[in-house]
Amino acid sequence: MNRIAFLVLASIAGGLLVFLALILFWGGVATLAALLAWWRPARPTCRQGGCRAKDYALVGSPEQTQVDRERWDRWLPERRGRLVRCRCGDHYLRDARHRRFLWVDAQGTPHPYRYHRPLGREWLPDHDS
Ligand SMILES: [Zn+2]
Repeated sequence: MNRIAFLVLASIAGGLLVFLALILFWGGVATLAALLAWWRPARPTCRQGGCRAKDYALVGSPEQTQVDRERWDRWLPERRGRLVRCRCGDHYLRDARHRRFLWVDAQGTPHPYRYHRPLGREWLPDHDS
């Protein structure tokens, strides 16, 4: 094998190795992020006690109401999380970054409701709720 052929083959092999290493690295990062998202608790029971995790609708979904619209507009400047509405009509804010679930009143002001510990799966009462 001449020198040029060897260099070409070596760089192809090196490129493939780097490519594989990148796939493994980002695959690992994506898997870890997915695991963390899966581990986080679902939404807590609402304040009225009638709605479970799957009874919340994401505000901004097709069945958005006028009230949703107004609260969304009031909340929007803060951009702290996801605004959801339970079947009772109450609005909540899921702030995943700070591990909080806040109740949003008719004025659009968020109040502490529930929080969970880092890596915790249980919703605990937040202060003054
Ligand atoms: Zn409810």
